[in-house]
Amino acid sequence: MGLEVVGGCMPNYDYRCESCEHVFEVFQKMSDDKLTDCPAEGCDGTVKRLLGAGAGVIFKGTGFYETDSRSKSYTDAAKKDSASSKAKE
Ligand SMILES: [Zn+2]
Repeated sequence: MGLEVVGGCMPNYDYRCESCEHVFEVFQKMSDDKLTDCPAEGCDGTVKRLLGAGAGVIFKGTGFYETDSRSKSYTDAAKKDSASSKAKE
């Protein structure tokens, strides 16, 4: 594919093909041009760089779950606070 895979501090980018929805990760220098062509065999679709750096930053609702658990623990803490302040009265 002509892609350079180098260990170390190369930034990696996630791309997704608009045609076949193939998602892949590429290590590129900041100065490298963005990829535009899908590397999948037999596909001549256009790829778009996904927002967010690093692997696994593909939005499938995970963020919502994280927000839910965070707000739940916050609610629990708030309940404890109000319960303990009530006990003092
Ligand atoms: Zn494709």
